[in-house]
Amino acid sequence: METDPKRCSILIREEALRLGFDDCGISAAGKLDREETFLNRWLEEGRHACMGYMERNRIKRTDPGKLVAGARSVISVLVNYYPPRFQEDPSAPVVSKYAYYPDYHGIIKSRLHLLLDYIDQHMGPVKARIFVDSAPVLERAWAARSGLGWIGKNTLLISRKCGSFVFLGEIICDLELAPGKEIPDYCGQCTRCIDACPTGALLAPRLLDASRCISYHTIENRGEIPESMHGKMQNRIFGCDICQDVCPWNRKVRPTSFPGLEPVPGLLEMTTDDWEALDETTFSNRFTGTSLERTGYRGIKRNLKLRK
Ligand code: SF4
Ligand code: SF4
Repeated sequence: METDPKRCSILIREEALRLGFDDCGISAAGKLDREETFLNRWLEEGRHACMGYMERNRIKRTDPGKLVAGARSVISVLVNYYPPRFQEDPSAPVVSKYAYYPDYHGIIKSRLHLLLDYIDQHMGPVKARIFVDSAPVLERAWAARSGLGWIGKNTLLISRKCGSFVFLGEIICDLELAPGKEIPDYCGQCTRCIDACPTGALLAPRLLDASRCISYHTIENRGEIPESMHGKMQNRIFGCDICQDVCPWNRKVRPTSFPGLEPVPGLLEMTTDDWEALDETTFSNRFTGTSLERTGYRGIKRNLKLRK
């Protein structure tokens, strides 16, 4: 059994890369005090719009010890999801790139279980929990702490290696490991994401007003899309990648090679007419088990009507 924290960290990273993750970093599982202050202010100012779940579990979000008793380390993994192909019809209603795939949570979780099995076998049984895009974990903050990237002005984690089209996952565990070092912010003087946002949702660097964000309205908003957003939806029907598409760190990213990340059959070939004619049965056959299920058939129909 390996017990040296530095050696364990090296072995975990090597195994993560062998399993297909694009990067892996480690943080000490302390409280996220800086992020707690920012999150509380953001919530108090109502920038989360109607995402009530953001208000719940506030303590768990910033204290990993509330998620795993005795937590000592957070292992963050990063998966490049930049697609190998795009929607073929240039005028088709636009779907965010992350939604090209079947449910990525399960795909990434199953690989994280393999990483955890490796840790158990080589470093002794650990108390641990696995998270992928899970509300109580501030995964961008952990990834940044571990040195996987920095939080860009578009509020997303940016990796020098993979850009910002990345999924994140975590293992919070009670094993002592050697944490990585935060890296500097490489946004520099660039403001492309803020300038390109068609609705002014990026109020300032790293400050998003969800109530103005196309991504929020097309995915999370379960009610009516407010009039203030009408005419501004940029042909988007699920998510919005504009503030990522313009980012220079995404210019040279290569397509994903993560096992299991294959575009949903038929999605990229759908024309404008196909979307307009979409009925509930076709939606259910094609999109059950994908991210589009979150918005549902009615939500997609609502978004189709208001997309221009
Ligand atoms: S996702 Fe779209 S609407 Fe939201 S901040 Fe980025 S560019 Fe603006
Ligand atoms: S577009 Fe520029 S400012 Fe925005 S996240 Fe990318 S590098 Fe940073």
